[in-house]
Amino acid sequence: MTAPIMPLLYTGGPLATHAYLIPNAAGTAYLCVDAPDGLAAELRENGIQVEALLLTHGHSDHVGDAARVARNHACPVYIHAEDLPLLGREKEGTPIENVLTLPVERGEAADWHIGGRDITLFHVPGHTSGSVAFYEPALNRVFGGDVIFAGGIGRCRSPALREELLSGIGRWLLPLPDATEIYPGHGPSTRLGIEKKEPYFAPYLPAREFTQPSTL
Ligand SMILES: [Zn+2]
Ligand SMILES: [Zn+2]
Repeated sequence: MTAPIMPLLYTGGPLATHAYLIPNAAGTAYLCVDAPDGLAAELRENGIQVEALLLTHGHSDHVGDAARVARNHACPVYIHAEDLPLLGREKEGTPIENVLTLPVERGEAADWHIGGRDITLFHVPGHTSGSVAFYEPALNRVFGGDVIFAGGIGRCRSPALREELLSGIGRWLLPLPDATEIYPGHGPSTRLGIEKKEPYFAPYLPAREFTQPSTL
């Protein structure tokens, strides 16, 4: 059995937010998912080059070091258009350079190519309006930010938003293979097959074929 390929992980900030580092296809630099406080210094100390910063959403604990990473690495910062307003609230006050929007329509999925890698973008709003999960089909893993955790889903500000989040997860994540590895923005990684058993997902599971019981 081959062990799953673990992405490099950095955890920082008061909410213990994760950043994940994925090597580009050439192995010359990394794609970085999220930028908690302290990430920029950690990258510098380890001599890690970033080709692009991919933000799962715009909450401050995920973007605290985005401006520093963008500046130090002269790299683009991708975020969904609907979370752009959140970036303006960044506590550092310095605007983030080179911000680009992720090419995915509201509530939809889109195939994307960056750093020589194929990534599927899932727009899964609810926790924030611009929350995105990054799925790598080749490695069968999801970087979901605060969309889904081990044993939970992202906090939502209203029941309607929670419903929107659950139905987005049901549409895009729950149909993925059970072995899909989930790397969330906080806490331990998990596997889709484990999370699917949570009762709150029951109404959103993909329809299964079953034999109608006989009514005779
Ligand atoms: Zn969040
Ligand atoms: Zn978070």
